[in-house]
Amino acid sequence: MNLFDVYPLVNITPVRALGATLWDENGQQYLDFYGGHAVISIGHSHPHYVQRVQEQVANIGFYSNSVKIPIQQELAAKLGELSGYPDYTLFLCNSGAEANENALKLASFHTGKNHVIAFKGAFHGRTSGAVAATDNPKIVAPFNAGHGVSFVPYDLAAVEQAMLAQPVCAVIIEPIQGVGGVVLPTDEFLQGLAALCAQHGVVLIADEVQSGYGRSGEFFAHQHAGIRPGIITVAKGMGNGFPIGGVLISPKFKASYGLLGTTFGGNHLACAAGLAVLEVLEQENLVAHAAELGAYIMQELRAHSQATVVRGRGLMIGVKYDFPIKEIRDKLMFEHHIFVGNASDPNVLRLLPPLNIIKAEADRFLQALAALEPAKVAVDNAVVEQD
Ligand code: PMP
Repeated sequence: MNLFDVYPLVNITPVRALGATLWDENGQQYLDFYGGHAVISIGHSHPHYVQRVQEQVANIGFYSNSVKIPIQQELAAKLGELSGYPDYTLFLCNSGAEANENALKLASFHTGKNHVIAFKGAFHGRTSGAVAATDNPKIVAPFNAGHGVSFVPYDLAAVEQAMLAQPVCAVIIEPIQGVGGVVLPTDEFLQGLAALCAQHGVVLIADEVQSGYGRSGEFFAHQHAGIRPGIITVAKGMGNGFPIGGVLISPKFKASYGLLGTTFGGNHLACAAGLAVLEVLEQENLVAHAAELGAYIMQELRAHSQATVVRGRGLMIGVKYDFPIKEIRDKLMFEHHIFVGNASDPNVLRLLPPLNIIKAEADRFLQALAALEPAKVAVDNAVVEQD
């Protein structure tokens, strides 16, 4: 059988990892400034995480939700405490797309309306409803396109117009767009959006799958703007590599909870991984660390790099050049042995390191990038010569 492998594969085979370091099969060491797409929050193979997961699987890894599973409640309580949402209810599932799917379904069920507003450049996942709210026609099949979604820019008048034009159940927004290239709506826009949703009875869904779990330097990126969405979705960093997703739901939607369900969601092993992540985030003060180290990296890049724009919050950083970053990314990976991310904007380098990287690792990245940037001159000249 052939393996499904349509992704553009990087020809590197990591076989071991610890903290922000990966090793390939030849023993070559790599610095991880991508975190496997923002999934690695507390660092690879963190000893506390390894111990918790090992102990859990040795005791009980899974039983269906037809029995009592106290570790689910432990996870919900800890997440409520650390995130500032102790009054919300946590529905556990297995991925970011599944979390968004359930959030959209809940909003529609609760309001009885069927239209959704999403934003230009958005990415919410590849399941039917989530992909319909994703602004990338290449991954939307005709069946998915049947969901009513309007894509609008970060413009409150455009949002309100869309709300008045059809029966809207939800607005779904990434408080910081990830796949789109670390694009930030302003705090004022997010505040205005929350007010519009309240005024028109529309559910505000914050997709924190990539920006959440401390990455932005607050537990959730929307908290920089001081808003409180009715529904918040999480995944990626929640399990540090173990598949787990969650929907945080305001008590006002209690009547609609019966709609939600999934076989694997909330299994013992996933909850143990999820609890270990939260314990490490708290014990090692990683949210504040992400804010501090991210500010340092962005300040250094703004002062010394040739990037035209450096944007982001905490350890979710986009470095935008006025040329495609492919050559720089390849050289970082293959010559300097540093993993970094790209984005749907080909000029943006995306940085999503584990939240516990240290300053020396940040400096290693900054020095490697500085050594490569003269490539800009060569690329610019090449373009000029071709013209
Ligand atoms: N929402 C956002 C903001 C994401 O970045 C992603 C993944 N890139 C998803 C949802 C989908 O998550 P998953 O791949 O776990 O379904």
